[in-house]
Amino acid sequence: MASAEPHRSILHIDMDAFFASVEQRDHPQWLGKPVIVGAAPDRRGVVCAASYEARKFGVRSAMPSRTAGRLCPDGIFVRPDFARYSAASDQIMAVLHDVTPLVEPLSIDEAFLDVTAAAGDIDAAASLARDIKARIRERVRLTASIGVAPNKFLAKLASDLQKPDGLTVIREEEKVAFLRPLPVSRIWGVGPKTEAALHEASIRTIADIQDFPGDLRRLLGAYAEDLRALAFGEDDRPVETEHERKSISSEETFDRDTRSVPLIRRTVLAQASEVAGALREKRLAGRTVHIKLRFADFTTLTRQKKLDHATQDETEIFRVAWTLLERQRGTGKAVRLVGTGVASLEPEGLQPDLFDEKARRRDRLARAADALNARFGPGSVRRG
Ligand SMILES: [Mg+2]
Repeated sequence: MASAEPHRSILHIDMDAFFASVEQRDHPQWLGKPVIVGAAPDRRGVVCAASYEARKFGVRSAMPSRTAGRLCPDGIFVRPDFARYSAASDQIMAVLHDVTPLVEPLSIDEAFLDVTAAAGDIDAAASLARDIKARIRERVRLTASIGVAPNKFLAKLASDLQKPDGLTVIREEEKVAFLRPLPVSRIWGVGPKTEAALHEASIRTIADIQDFPGDLRRLLGAYAEDLRALAFGEDDRPVETEHERKSISSEETFDRDTRSVPLIRRTVLAQASEVAGALREKRLAGRTVHIKLRFADFTTLTRQKKLDHATQDETEIFRVAWTLLERQRGTGKAVRLVGTGVASLEPEGLQPDLFDEKARRRDRLARAADALNARFGPGSVRRG
């Protein structure tokens, strides 16, 4: 079948038993032994990661350490050392960025790569994946499992199928058949509740969804469409690089908890201006405005609004943030902290409002203000 768009080549890289593997790498005497990273077995707390040797005893991450200690009495319990894990993570991400800038980190040890341009076709993508595994082994002395597929859903599914040190390729032309025998729980977004609802209707495998004769919407509502698409291996979500996902925000904790609307308003105005300045400096604009409120009792809430265009305009950021905040005013609680930010970042210059005379003037004024701020010291803008 010819199609106008070439198929994409997406990789999902997932490190094997990451924290435990770093510990084994740094303590060779623990190689081949059941290593359990997390709380000690005589303490309250959970397992963060278990080596494959420990998994043989049934030890899993998020399990209470006491249970792990019972299942695996000879386990080597290690307190997590996040500094070393994050150093290893940086090295791994650097290997990935050598391949393509289109890297979307999902967590400390997982990332998507779009190698469509870098590889050409899925076979080239698979050999690129082999190179990446070799480079990670060489430079970081750890093993990774990689899934290679035409989209994110299938790539993530594939990376999990032959762990550890796996490489699994799912091709466009075999994806529907590939999915058929798998349990519905393999589909992204199918948690225990959805799974139970599907089992209720005798839907157990992905084939059962593909072949379902009735209307899945009766069972699942609006989610039915997405589920059906995924069951046929369709997923067009793009790989989003770090700066697209990250946000630029500014937060302030008041000296004393406050109910003063003018004070909160002034603070948000200043934050909108700081955030807009940081966006302009980095030549970015964002599609989502978000706020954060922490009350005197430490309860915290965040709210966000997605715009139909990207902005770096402080007036607009303030207006949206203030609307979000005003909706929360009814609580009457004193405010301890307020924050304003912009996310879903993209390179500037794509915003239609720069064609609008007023916005262009505001933009010029804002740049002049940035220059002044640069001379008289920066605010407290931070990246989140
Ligand atoms: Mg992992």
